[in-house]
This record gives sequence, C-alpha cells and structure tokens, in this order.
Amino acid sequence: MTGPDLKALIEAVSNVVIAHADELTDLDQAIGDGDHGVNMKRGFEAVVSDLDQITAKPVGEALKAAGMQLVMKVGGASGPLYGTLFMGLGKAWPETLDQTSLATAFGEAIDAVKARGKSEAGQKTMLDVLIPVQVALAAGGDLDTICDTAETAAAATIPMQATKGRASFLGERSVGHMDPGARSSQLIINAVCEALS
Ligand code: ADP
Ligand code: MG
Repeated sequence: MTGPDLKALIEAVSNVVIAHADELTDLDQAIGDGDHGVNMKRGFEAVVSDLDQITAKPVGEALKAAGMQLVMKVGGASGPLYGTLFMGLGKAWPETLDQTSLATAFGEAIDAVKARGKSEAGQKTMLDVLIPVQVALAAGGDLDTICDTAETAAAATIPMQATKGRASFLGERSVGHMDPGARSSQLIINAVCEALS
C-alpha cells in the first residue's frame, strides 16, 4: 500500500463515520447517553486534519498515529477501544501483506480491544461486528462477503441484551436496538471494502 492509497482509505473511512454521526447518536440515545456520533465525529475529524502527517509514515506507524488521535479525541468508552484497535493493527501490521497475514494482524488488534474492554463476543458491543469480520477474513472471504458479514453482524446485535458498556445498565431494555459501536464498526468495515473494491 502506498502513501496516496492509504490517505484515500483513511479519508474515506473518516468521511463515512462523520457523515453518519447523527445516526450513531440516535442509536446511542436509545441505549446509552447519546454521544457516540459526536464522539466519533470529533475523533475522525482530528484524524482528517492530521492526515498528511499521518500518511507520511509507513502503514503500521500511520495506523498507530491514527489510533493515538482516536484515543485522545473520541472520548467515552469507544475512544480508547477504537484507539486500541487501530494502534493494535498498526503494531501487528505484517511485513508481507496478504489476506492471511492481514487476518492475523486484525485478530491481534481485536485481542487488544478485548483486553482493554474486558469484553468478549456476545455482549452487544463493537466486538460483535469486529470478530465475525475477522473470522470471514481469515476464512478467505472476498470483499462482498466481508461487507455482508459486517452488515449481518451489526443487525444481529438488535435482539441481544447488553452485558458490557453503558447499555448494560438498561438490562432487558437494551434488547431491540442496534448497538451504536457495532454500527460504527460496520460503517468503518464497509468504507474499507468500498475503497478497496
Ligand atoms: P460511552 O458508552 O462511554 O458513552 P460511546 O457512546 O462513544 O461511549 O461508545 C459506546 C459503544 O462502545 C458501545 O455501543 C459499544 O459498542 C462500545 N463499548 C462500550 N464498552 C465496551 C467494552 N467494554 N468492550 C467493547 N466495546 C465496548
Ligand atoms: Mg455513549
């Protein structure tokens, strides 16, 4: 991946998240405190404003730098978690990039999120999108399959009861709404797939 490719990719991801801020806020209003859209918009706007400096670095370092911006600017529970995801991916970025090595690196980044969030699959969080996407990637799925997997996984958080994060305070009342972090993860995956296809 070259500098201009990486720049276009990070810019595409950021713009999609920023464009969906209201939707993410609405989702977080239903089962949280209604700040997920504003949080994510602030973080990705910071990434965009720092894009030239970020993408002047090699890919692994660029991902770490983007992750740092997210940690510093997103806030809430999701800031440190998305920051950890991007920094973890940067740290694990393979020297020889192919689908298998990317899946392994993404798996390591997800493990870092799990450790940071003390969370796992099935708790109605971003992990319920990230984990199935990693599994599809590791299984050799193409871009369409990965995109579909993310969409199905985000929708599958609707009937779940949250047992982590702010939504868990609602108990059974968290059922029936899509998890905001699952939706933002899906938007990010979708933007990556579209930019690469
Ligand atoms: P906050 O909950 O602090 O207001 P946000 O609204 O920005 O933060 O983000 C909420 C999202 O963060 C949730 O929808 C969920 O996907 C994710 N999340 C919260 N806690 C965890 C956790 N421990 N592990 C993984 N994801 C989490
Ligand atoms: Mg919130």
